[in-house]
Amino acid sequence: MTPATYRSGAFLNAAQRLGLEVVVGIDLPETLSDYWHVPLGLDFSQVEASIQTIIDFAQTHPFMAILSLDDSASELAARASVALGLAHNSPHASEAARDKLLMRRLMSAGGAPCPIFREFWLHADPVEMARQVSFPCVLKPRRLSGSRGVIRADTVPEFVSAFHRLKRLLINEGYSENETSFLVEDFIPGFEVALEGLLTHGELKVLTLFDKPDPLDGPFFEETIYVTPSRLSGEMQQAIAQCVATAARSLGLREGPVHAELRVNDQGPWMLEIAGRSIGGLCSTVLEFGSGICLEELILRHALGEDLASVERDGGAAGVMMIPIPKAGILRSVHGIEEAQAVPFITGIEITARLHNQLVPLPEGASYLGFIFARGETPEAVEEAIRQAHQHLHFEIRREIPLLNRSLPAV
Ligand code: ADP
Ligand code: CA
Repeated sequence: MTPATYRSGAFLNAAQRLGLEVVVGIDLPETLSDYWHVPLGLDFSQVEASIQTIIDFAQTHPFMAILSLDDSASELAARASVALGLAHNSPHASEAARDKLLMRRLMSAGGAPCPIFREFWLHADPVEMARQVSFPCVLKPRRLSGSRGVIRADTVPEFVSAFHRLKRLLINEGYSENETSFLVEDFIPGFEVALEGLLTHGELKVLTLFDKPDPLDGPFFEETIYVTPSRLSGEMQQAIAQCVATAARSLGLREGPVHAELRVNDQGPWMLEIAGRSIGGLCSTVLEFGSGICLEELILRHALGEDLASVERDGGAAGVMMIPIPKAGILRSVHGIEEAQAVPFITGIEITARLHNQLVPLPEGASYLGFIFARGETPEAVEEAIRQAHQHLHFEIRREIPLLNRSLPAV
C-alpha cells in the first residue's frame, strides 16, 4: 500500500478479525522506513529491487498471499507472487487491468462487447483526429481513474477543446507530450451498472450488481449513486455476468476481486472497464455478506484459499452516493448533516473533503465531497432516501479571489 491509501483501515481490521498476521509493505523512501522501523519498506518505482526485498523478507517470514491495496502496487504484487509461487493474477493481466488501451485490445480480441476505439497521441493534430472518429465519442486517458480526463465530444470543435483539456491534465500529471497516447471511443448510450465479483482459478462469482440510476451522458462522468440489488431483469443480469466473465478471461484475470463497469442498452451489455481490485472510495462499507462479513474480509479469506462458493450478500437493498463537487473553489462550510442523517434508511453521512481546502471538480479533480450511505427494503426506497439526504446537504463553496499582483512597485 501507499502511505496515503484510504483502503488500509478496512483491510487491517478485517485481518485482525480473522486473526491473520499482516506484514504491511509500504511505499516509502528507505531512509524513512529505517527511521519509522517499518518492517517492509518498499519503493514502488523500483520494482526489481522491491521484489528482491519481498523475497528476502519471505525467507524468514513466509507469506500465504500478497494483496495490493492500490493500483500502484498491482504489478509488484503480481511479480512478487510469481517469484514466491503464490496464487495471483499474472503481471500481464494486472497491467492490462490498469491500461485502458491494452484492456480494449484484449477485450475486443477476446469477444467482450466493447466500443470501437482508437489510439491517438498527445503530440498529434486534433483536427486530423476528429476526422477519423465518429460522433458522439469519448476521449479518455489510459491510466487515470475516477473518470478524470474522460470527456464526451459531439462535434469537431468540442473534440478539439476536449483534446486540449485532456492534454493539459496529462502534462500536469507528469506525462510527456511526445510519448503519451490516449483513447477515443464511440460513446455508448445506456444505463450504467457496476459489478463486484471474485475470481477463483478463472471462475467468476458475482458478489453484487449495482445500478447507477443517475444518467451519465457527459460531457463529464461523475460517479454519484450506486444501488444494489439491481432492478434489471434476471436475464439481463445474467448477460452482464457473462460479459464480465468474458472480459476477465480476455485480460487473463483469474484470481481475486474484480470491479467491472458496463453500459446496458437494447443491444445488451457493453464493457466499459474491469479492474483487478474491489470497489473504491468508502463504497464497500454498504456491502455485507452473511452475519456482518465485509467485502475486505471476503477478499482476505479468498486470498487464503477458503471456499466462498456459498457466500451471499445479505438481503435487503443498500446504496451509496459519492457526493460530486459541483464547482471549483474553497469549501467554507457544510450544513444540513443532521437533517440528512435523520432521513429514514440513511445509515451514515461521511464528509471527506476538508474545510478551507481547494475543491477541483471533474474532469481535472480526483475526489468527492463525501459519501451518503443507506439501507432499506427496496432499491427504490434506498435511492429516494439518498436523494432526499443529498437535498439537505448544503456546501458553501467560494470562488478563490485572485491575489493582487504583489510584484507591482509601491507608488
Ligand atoms: P475511469 O477509470 O476514469 O473510471 P472509465 O472508462 O470507467 O474510466 O470511464 C468513466 C465513465 O465515463 C464511465 O463510468 C462512463 O460513465 C463514462 N464512459 C467511459 N467510456 C464511455 C463510452 N465509451 N461510452 C459512454 N460512456 C463512457
Ligand atoms: Ca470507471
